[in-house]
Amino acid sequence: MISLRAAPRLDDPVTVVGVKPADRAHLAKLGITTVRDLLLELPYDWESYGAPTPIAQLTVGQHATVVGEALAVRTRRPRFNRTGLKTITESTVRDDNDDELGVIWFNQNFVGKVITPGARIAVAGVVKQKRYGALQMTSPQFELLDATGEEGPRTVGGLQPKYHLVKGLSAKKISQWVAAAMPAADGLPDVLPPEVRQRHNLLPVAEAVRLGHQPETGEEWKAAKRRMVFTELFELQTAFALMRRRQATEPATPIPYRQDVIDTFKAGVGFELTRAQRRATWEAFQDMARTAPMNRLLNGDVGSGKTAVAAACVAMAHAAGMQSVVMAPTEILARQHLGKFRSYLEESFPDLKVELLVSGQSAAERRRVRTAAASGHCALVVGTHALIEEDFELAQLGLAVVDEQHRFGTRQRELLRAKGKGRPHFLAMTATPIPRTLALAVYGEMAVSVIDELPPGRTPVTTEVVEPDQRSSAYALVRGEVAQGRQAFVIYPLIEESEKSAAKAATVEFERLRTHVFPELTMGLVHGRLKEKDEVMKRFVAGDIQVLVATAVVEVGVDVPNATVMMIEGADRFGLAQLHQFRGRVGRGAGRSHCLLLADDPSATTLERLRLVTEITDGFKLAEEDMRLRGMGELLGPRQHGMSDLAMQGLRQPELLNEVRQEAELLLEQDPELSRHPELAAAIKRRLELTSIS
Ligand code: ADP
Ligand code: MG
Repeated sequence: MISLRAAPRLDDPVTVVGVKPADRAHLAKLGITTVRDLLLELPYDWESYGAPTPIAQLTVGQHATVVGEALAVRTRRPRFNRTGLKTITESTVRDDNDDELGVIWFNQNFVGKVITPGARIAVAGVVKQKRYGALQMTSPQFELLDATGEEGPRTVGGLQPKYHLVKGLSAKKISQWVAAAMPAADGLPDVLPPEVRQRHNLLPVAEAVRLGHQPETGEEWKAAKRRMVFTELFELQTAFALMRRRQATEPATPIPYRQDVIDTFKAGVGFELTRAQRRATWEAFQDMARTAPMNRLLNGDVGSGKTAVAAACVAMAHAAGMQSVVMAPTEILARQHLGKFRSYLEESFPDLKVELLVSGQSAAERRRVRTAAASGHCALVVGTHALIEEDFELAQLGLAVVDEQHRFGTRQRELLRAKGKGRPHFLAMTATPIPRTLALAVYGEMAVSVIDELPPGRTPVTTEVVEPDQRSSAYALVRGEVAQGRQAFVIYPLIEESEKSAAKAATVEFERLRTHVFPELTMGLVHGRLKEKDEVMKRFVAGDIQVLVATAVVEVGVDVPNATVMMIEGADRFGLAQLHQFRGRVGRGAGRSHCLLLADDPSATTLERLRLVTEITDGFKLAEEDMRLRGMGELLGPRQHGMSDLAMQGLRQPELLNEVRQEAELLLEQDPELSRHPELAAAIKRRLELTSIS
């Protein structure tokens, strides 16, 4: 008897389309467990390297196909091994005009066995320039060609899908599974109402899935992509609109605006608020005066003075008889906040008591603070995660503030908001400058205030790109500053996406700097896996450590006015906005500060990109450049923002987002509970489970 494999169904596990257990685990890492997931996860891009180009005509950065003879093929182990690199396979391709192109593959030693010297091959990839000018392709796709040289490449150079991958997977494998899953596509429910599809000229879902995975032309791919991006944004925006509607019906205690309170605050804060601070404060006051809870994101560059805005809100809440909490991601930040809030508030508002709650305190101290909060005796509790522990309660919580809100998960933010009896007003602060479109797309359930102005009187930070042969001058600068009593940061990048390897790299570098470069200086090391990181940071804040070596994941969002050098290794691995964040850690005191950008791979394009940081001082402008150059997803970093790269790309056309938002609002006006759109409701639910949106 012939056994036919039954047609796959949408909710079947991926194994029904021939996925082996090991690959099943790999796919699960990408969030793909069912046939449906396989179908809906389109390639994030397609690449066509085009017809073969003569080597003499290649330009740096070009996506190209090259055909020629492979010269010697050599596989070796790397001399230095910091990144988990096992093998390097190198060869040279010589084309029919006798021009040569270097090719190199990492950890693919099978390549050295497949390509024999003298073989005729096609390679396709991005053309790069090596340090000394020669051209090279890194890990290109390749194909062995017929030795007669008459036939061109069959697959290399054609349209190739780019799927998100983890180690062990390849685009080729995914294409095969998707092809086997394709018969199920006709069963996919369409979450877009037909009239929306018609108005915007969008493909039905099954067709979009088919053309998205197996397009024959660039046009087909574009149409498929547009449909899928629209749908994703539509699901998110409908979800946000639903949340906004629900929030609007939740009861919160209004905090009435009082002119005398803000006047007292302004008189005591110690400086004149900037125009941007006043605007943000006013926006928050208006929200808090309503009977629905405020849900606002305060987005302002490092050092733009977000704390003062939060403090004004705390004062207003206090005047209405309500308490506030401010949660920060680390104990050091919490302590610094405590200092700021006290200096901004306690003198002007004598009965406004500010307390600290962190896990590092003695049990007796914590008990005292808990009692003060529960009795309503203190008006503001500043703290860390300790604030969301069960035994902490407030008598009358009116305002919850979260600083560096991306460092907390949805659940943690929710727990904080649940500390009062009713729903408190909520203010989230972030120092990642997020352009407006992106904010609407990922924080669509919140209102956004932007502080786009720095307080006056700051000495700008001198930013320089340091080329590899100038490294010693960078060290000299650090030494010079330290000799004058200043302090310096040295930041190491995340290599290979893992804090483990970054920690290792930072540790190795730390040892090297300590023994060979700065043996006379007091140095400290912090990385995410270090238990005593708070301890080290404290010593740096106190001035006991002169040079602090840190990885990027470590919160350096602390105020160390005495630090005047920010040296960033592997600066080319960071986004521009992120580099700007680091730079914001210096230049806080009176002394002139320096930011030094060192690149691992100082190609012309890299230097060009880094130069932008030396020229642009506005975080929002840099964020926009970053988005233009690297895409929106990068800007938010590894946070789960619940949006695919495709949808992120779609945000580059702001009008698309506007259209989607209007459709979402319209739909909810007609069907507020989505009872007539169960497929959409189900899709939204699935999506929200995957994201950190509250
Ligand atoms: P961030 O937005 O990064 O949290 P902070 O609130 O920590 O910034 O403010 C950075 C520094 O600027 C603090 O020392 C603060 O006292 C000061 N500052 C804030 N607003 C003003 C202002 N309007 N004028 C002068 N200094 C200000
Ligand atoms: Mg801050």
